[in-house]
Amino acid sequence: MTSENTDKTDLDPVAWDDFRAQAHALLDACVDQLSKARDLPWQPVPQSVRDSYALPDDGTGTATDALVATLRDSILPYATGNTHPRFFGWVHGSGMAEGILSEMVAATMNANCGGRDHGMVYVERAVIDWTRRQMGFPDTASGVLVTGTSQATVIALSAARLRALGAQVRRKGQTDQRLIAYAGAGVHNATTKAIELLGIGTDNLRLLPERSEGIDIAALRAQIVRDRADGAIPFALIGTAGSVDLGRYDDLDALADVAAAEDLWLHVDGAFGAWTRLADAPWRALSDGIERADSLACDFHKWMYVPYDCGLVLIRNEEEHRAAFAARPSYLAPLTEGLAGGDPWYCDYGIDLSRGNRALKVWTAIRAHGAQKLGAAISANCRAAAHMGALVEATPGLALVAPVVSNVVVFSADDTLSAEDQSELNKSIAQRLQIAGEVVFSTTLADRPSGERVTCLRAAITNHRTTPDDIELSIAAVRRAKEAGTPETPHSE
Ligand SMILES: *Cc1c(COP(=O)(O)O)cnc(C)c1O
Repeated sequence: MTSENTDKTDLDPVAWDDFRAQAHALLDACVDQLSKARDLPWQPVPQSVRDSYALPDDGTGTATDALVATLRDSILPYATGNTHPRFFGWVHGSGMAEGILSEMVAATMNANCGGRDHGMVYVERAVIDWTRRQMGFPDTASGVLVTGTSQATVIALSAARLRALGAQVRRKGQTDQRLIAYAGAGVHNATTKAIELLGIGTDNLRLLPERSEGIDIAALRAQIVRDRADGAIPFALIGTAGSVDLGRYDDLDALADVAAAEDLWLHVDGAFGAWTRLADAPWRALSDGIERADSLACDFHKWMYVPYDCGLVLIRNEEEHRAAFAARPSYLAPLTEGLAGGDPWYCDYGIDLSRGNRALKVWTAIRAHGAQKLGAAISANCRAAAHMGALVEATPGLALVAPVVSNVVVFSADDTLSAEDQSELNKSIAQRLQIAGEVVFSTTLADRPSGERVTCLRAAITNHRTTPDDIELSIAAVRRAKEAGTPETPHSE
């Protein structure tokens, strides 16, 4: 018997030349898809395609040519649709073509970025250092790339808790001390989850009233006084740069003043809004004061247009960051040189030990476009949102729910109706336009002047492919859908 290509334990291709030809064909399909993004909105996944995804128990493998055909025909077409220029739902980044290049190289290298001495560790340092400078953090700051702002928030608030309770919290837990955190009522659910996960409990997250300029500072101060009088330990203040519902920004300088006076850790959730740092006036000023935070969570996969997933936590004081996470069992002990060098290791700054290569796609995007061009795209998104807001205001019956401050537009398609009928109409319009492949709006509950809560249409524009024409087409589509009326839906009781 020959041993050549019959080794059943070798997972490499049987014939590299054939693999190369198939891979080239798939690369062409990927580039085709992205270059035609304008013609490819979200589409539902047909049942037959869903069924075809099932994995057999006794599979013996699929040849490369069949595998590539399946990836091209049954996988590639059924994405979220956020590559399309009229996708404005939730806060979804649109991705960039350079992501194809960086992800291909990253998969080839298969680097584990938990630590050690190799190129991707230095690329990650370059990405963190670039962001640190954009955000105005001092060079004593540290950071780590994570899945997204949700994980970044857990890491940041762990460091905040350690400052409040001392290093012993890692051994003893929180014991019976009652920590209190403060945030605006519109804070993202990622903060709520982090507070739960850390065992602080959401009863100890004070949700403060908000004004147009964010958290009501007088209410914040009064609440801190009450909590201290009650024997609790106020420890963290969470500011938001770009709230998910209305795109609101807290006055970060005012929050930094309170944090300094009250000895609180100031954490900023800047998931998308932190990137107004790269934008032109007047949007840049929205995130003024961000450089005074103790920690910042932000995403590259939203408003930096980098493919999913990648977020960042930045912590002002590296020692506090390490104190909360550093831990090296003996098998991970560093050596001064060789592959086990490269200290500090990223596993000492976060939750994960094994870590994928998130840095390369960010680094590639920044190398390809630079801060100025990325900033210009962000400013263009804000301009597009202002344009959409103006069209809403100019259209009889359509009504903005809140002023458009950056890239988020929330509106009702008909504020002459009752709250219930408006909600039904807005939900129906969102669904119909999604299914028709015309526009993706998401929905959110918003307070109306009547005091009632209405489900409204919501656009968050973090899409570098959106043009002014797309904005006009989108509002025209809403008008058309509204004229067609709410289709009768059977009531399910
Ligand atoms: C998206 C978002 C989050 C959560 O970030 P992920 O990257 O999805 O984990 C937190 N806060 C705000 C304001 C967001 O928009």
